[in-house]
Amino acid sequence: MLANDSVIVINAGSSSIKFSMYSGPALDLTMRGKIENLYSGVAHFIAQDAGNKVVGERHWRDGPLGHEGGMRFLIDFAQTHLDGHRVVAVGHRIVHGGVAHSGPILLTAALVDELEKLVPLAPLHLPHNLAPVRSVMAMAPHVPQIGCFDTAFHAGQPAEAQAFALPATITELGVRRYGFHGLSYEYIASVLPQADPGLAHARVVAAHLGNGASMCAMDAGRSVASTMGFTAVDGLPMGTRCGALDPGVVLYLMQELGMDVAAVQKLMYQQSGLLGVSGISSDMRTLEQSDDPRAKAAIDLMVYRIGRELGSLAAALGGIDALVFSGGIGENSVSLRAAVCYDAAWLGVQLDHTANTANPRGIARISKADSKVAVWVVPANEELMIARHALDVVEAA
Ligand code: ADP
Repeated sequence: MLANDSVIVINAGSSSIKFSMYSGPALDLTMRGKIENLYSGVAHFIAQDAGNKVVGERHWRDGPLGHEGGMRFLIDFAQTHLDGHRVVAVGHRIVHGGVAHSGPILLTAALVDELEKLVPLAPLHLPHNLAPVRSVMAMAPHVPQIGCFDTAFHAGQPAEAQAFALPATITELGVRRYGFHGLSYEYIASVLPQADPGLAHARVVAAHLGNGASMCAMDAGRSVASTMGFTAVDGLPMGTRCGALDPGVVLYLMQELGMDVAAVQKLMYQQSGLLGVSGISSDMRTLEQSDDPRAKAAIDLMVYRIGRELGSLAAALGGIDALVFSGGIGENSVSLRAAVCYDAAWLGVQLDHTANTANPRGIARISKADSKVAVWVVPANEELMIARHALDVVEAA
């Protein structure tokens, strides 16, 4: 990797495409940007350099831009703004790798076809993750593309953490717990020992709380259990996803309420969670600013579920040395962190309220010096993890 070599990272969700460019052997962030509102409202692109200076901005007011249009624009933009940089790899965040893929991998057209078969396991995410891979293949076929899976970090979990109590014939079809947000947890596992070397061999529960939300138990940096399972709808309540649900509810919805599969899927993925419970918004900021008791009920339910899962994950680890908050909510919501830590006092968590209220930017400890469990905030950085993996794959090729 030479000084002018760069890795571009694409993180494509259902309504947005985020990209980052990392350059030189230390993978310094040189540019980042996003296109939002790909399908509704006014699509908006903005790109900033390492010093946050805006280096590109554009709006599309005439109909939906879509993933293909967005990628076409981004590839054009990248090619005209490379400024002497040579793109050595494009790394993609891909939500699901299925049973077969448990590490970063060079993406070929055949592999993308194979991954397409996993769409039913991640209907909201996978099609959008794969679309940009095809766009780059068409427009810049010589650039190696590397897929990094959100499931990969969890692949080494013990068998009992992965298994459902279903007949073996079903389990053998790949119906098991995979876990997600793996790139975020892998990043946390990589930086925590730098922040506190004593945590290198610790029992850590990390909570990635964004629009999607999950928790992961890590023993000496390795995932041993997680709240998300077969799909990314399991576990905690999220912005619009319901999280863990008695499977009998699904039967009831179908048998008694006559809902078909599409309606149940829409209910569980798009109409539940913070949005469903509050009836107001899926956005934590909006709920925190609201006086409506339903907003409070939604936040309380999320805090309660985090507390329950924390106990379960601490049990999986046989104890807990550190708790980490990450993701948009985990990094920013002073009150949610305070509520979770208050409920976790029984585990030995003692929050330092001054440190918590200071709402640190960057990696910071927010527990009291004598807290049995150290509490940390670690800003999510899946993109850097993807850049590191992509570079490793092309350098090993
Ligand atoms: P995604 O999972 O889509 O990447 P993010 O990690 O950006 O999402 O998290 C989005 C969530 O973070 C939203 O619920 C948003 O309201 C919440 N959030 C962002 N900033 C704050 C804040 N200052 N206080 C409370 N919640 C916040």
